[in-house]
Amino acid sequence: MDLELNEEQAAVRQLARDFVDREVTPYAAAWDRAERVDRGIVKKLGDLGFLGMTIAQRYGGSGGDHLAYCLVTEELGRGDSSVRGIVSVSLGLVAKSIAAWGSEEQKREWLPRLCSGAAVGCFGLTEPGTGSDAANLTTRAVRDGDGYAITGGKMFITNGTWADVALVFARTGAEPGHKGISAFLVPTDTPGVERREIHGKLGLRGQATAEIVLDGARVPASAMLAPEGKGFAVAMSALAKGRMSVAAGCVGIAQACLDAAVEYAGQREQFGAPIARHQLVQELIADIAVDVTAARLLTWQVADHIDRGLPFATQSSIAKLHASEAAVRCANNALQVFGGYGYIDEYPVGKLLRDARVMTLYEGTTQIHKLLIGRALTGVSAF
Ligand code: FAD
Repeated sequence: MDLELNEEQAAVRQLARDFVDREVTPYAAAWDRAERVDRGIVKKLGDLGFLGMTIAQRYGGSGGDHLAYCLVTEELGRGDSSVRGIVSVSLGLVAKSIAAWGSEEQKREWLPRLCSGAAVGCFGLTEPGTGSDAANLTTRAVRDGDGYAITGGKMFITNGTWADVALVFARTGAEPGHKGISAFLVPTDTPGVERREIHGKLGLRGQATAEIVLDGARVPASAMLAPEGKGFAVAMSALAKGRMSVAAGCVGIAQACLDAAVEYAGQREQFGAPIARHQLVQELIADIAVDVTAARLLTWQVADHIDRGLPFATQSSIAKLHASEAAVRCANNALQVFGGYGYIDEYPVGKLLRDARVMTLYEGTTQIHKLLIGRALTGVSAF
């Protein structure tokens, strides 16, 4: 693996860094308090090509490799995880699934709009009764003339109230488990689709997270993504790559913690010296630095595997598990460096801790990733 960035990767990282410092970081605290990111950010992300990375230019994408995508995701995560999540879902889970599995018609219908930011996508896998055990989902799509009528409920859906299209996973067959699941591209203005915003989240408060209720929502047969019964494969392939972007977002959080802790430790004086002089404060900072570096290298390794066409699913689990746990540790350590000031939202580290906490829960909890890694290594499923 070549750890040097090439010219294109370095340029896109700088573009993202400047954008985040100018358009994201200065507003992140206000968006968090208001529980809403300014929606205008979506078009700005699209204009810079950040919503079309790795997607072919003929479909409105901006091309680039997965390492460049990680670099952008890291920078967005450094500025505001709520903004990072918009990209990770709309591009990472939805547009990339359409690019990988879609018909020519589906690609032409959705990709240019998703890549430009004219449309937003959401990913509807989790249900009120099935989270980690997603293969047991109960939403059902029943054949209805030349289309399907979808009925069920989806829970905790990122971008839910903003989305123009929902990638919905529903049961079409009688087979139990993952075999009977199909994927559908459901326009969110379809009659029978109702979206309810979920309020009161611990973190990611700027993000539009929703419960989606489908009550006989009718879509044409052409809305099915990939062949019937292949829906679970669509979901798992999306998440295998998606976990890399969650990991990259965690690296961004951890980097923001490092930057904030170093700066504060140099300014705050106690016992007649900057707290940076105290060895135990340096220990906190050193622990953050070790976590950031390890998480970044693990994440880049996943991108490198994808870009070189190597197997990457287990690496992706390893990176996501480590980076998410590391982001929580880093945010907690940074808050300790800030002392009581870390506990009030005038300073950034409290929000970083709140935003980091969900990372060990979604796109596979820490426990689920341990089971995935354990299964890959031992050949024995402990689910
Ligand atoms: P459960 O599956 O009920 O798990 C509860 C606990 O039990 C966890 O600690 C878990 O690790 C543990 N557990 C479960 N099974 C096992 C086992 N076999 N062995 C050991 N421990 C186990 N979903 C989407 O589809 N789309 C989205 O866009 C989306 N965005 C989200 C945004 C936010 C802010 C949040 C909070 C969630 C989001 N999710 C989304 C859902 C997320 O993926 C689920 O919350 C996650 O999969 C866990 O499911 P659950 O919450 O039902 O927990």
